[in-house]
Amino acid sequence: MVDLQGQYKGIKETVDASIAEILESAAFINGPYVHKFQAALEAYLGVKHVIPCANGTDALQIAMMGLDLQPGDEVITADFTFAATVEVIGLLRLTPVLVDVEPDTFNIDPVAIEKAITPKTKAIVPVHLFGQAANMDAILAIAEKHNLYVIEDNAQGIGAAYTFKDGTKKKTGTIGHVASTSFFPSKNLGCYGDGGAIFTDNDDLAHRIRGIVNHGMYKRYHHDVVGVNSRLDSIQAAVLLAKLPKLNDYNTARRNAAKKYNAAFENIDAIITPVTNTSCKGICDTCDCHVFHQYTLKVNGVDRDELVAHLQSKEIPCGVYYPIPLHLQKAYVDERYKEVDFPVTNQLVKEVISLPMHTELTDDQIDFITTAIIDFIKK
Ligand SMILES: *Cc1c(COP(=O)(O)O)cnc(C)c1O
Repeated sequence: MVDLQGQYKGIKETVDASIAEILESAAFINGPYVHKFQAALEAYLGVKHVIPCANGTDALQIAMMGLDLQPGDEVITADFTFAATVEVIGLLRLTPVLVDVEPDTFNIDPVAIEKAITPKTKAIVPVHLFGQAANMDAILAIAEKHNLYVIEDNAQGIGAAYTFKDGTKKKTGTIGHVASTSFFPSKNLGCYGDGGAIFTDNDDLAHRIRGIVNHGMYKRYHHDVVGVNSRLDSIQAAVLLAKLPKLNDYNTARRNAAKKYNAAFENIDAIITPVTNTSCKGICDTCDCHVFHQYTLKVNGVDRDELVAHLQSKEIPCGVYYPIPLHLQKAYVDERYKEVDFPVTNQLVKEVISLPMHTELTDDQIDFITTAIIDFIKK
């Protein structure tokens, strides 16, 4: 699904030299590379504060702790996402409220959000799924109307931008009150282990969060709040610092691969290619509206599981993200959920299939993959 060795070749000299330097200096935690990377990412995103932490799941949890959400507060998020999003809501004893998504973009449906709001609702967590922003115009309007926090889960969207109805543009992760991201190796900006970060423009929130990631400490050995231990180490920061200047090129490579996949499937009715929800109505050369963390198709009138088996028999990697709606996962069942409220997610879990997507895909590989799929459909 990804080719991290191939990508490493392009940054090997920088990464190897930085890691050697860190080994010599022994500044493994909170060393200069962590600070350099933090500042570089703040500049790239145009956000005031980036607070690095240990992984994307922690980042989301810490964002919620920073907002001081309390047990019983309801937090609305998408039924169709990676489980980490709902997991941290549950861990903090907040009440997750899962809602349906849109059939085209796979992102949280603002109409479903509005329907799920109660007097206990405190926050909305849009996930910019597969590399494309959720409908932030609508989500911000709902949040403002009901006085809710917006916490963006930007684990799959780093480098993407959202174009507002008035034509202005903002990078995902800088739109809500606070955002989280993941630097897991296969993410668009990935390190060589675990890593994550929280973003915010709010100075007070950033200050609270900097204490929370470090055992609730604001002054050495003075613990003012219950915190966690969640740090990005120097070696991971060095890898990220080497990759960040290439992030736009990496995302362009992903978009180019997506364009080639789209072109190959253009006349195949049984395949619905990803929809980009933007003013340019496509994937243009300069477009940062979709960074294709995943290239996810929907099949129409084809047995998806047989297609998966066919690809596996040809040793073509593929993935089903996600095979089970979160509201049906044992950990998150709740009597408030009614099946009629999840028609889209319930359908998507049967239709989606994600193809290999990374920065090193060649035309030959794309040909091989698309030919195998089209042959299967036509047989
Ligand atoms: C990867 C991911 C996370 C979690 O990130 P980790 O670094 O693996 O903890 C959270 N949310 C979404 C949507 C993700 O894709």
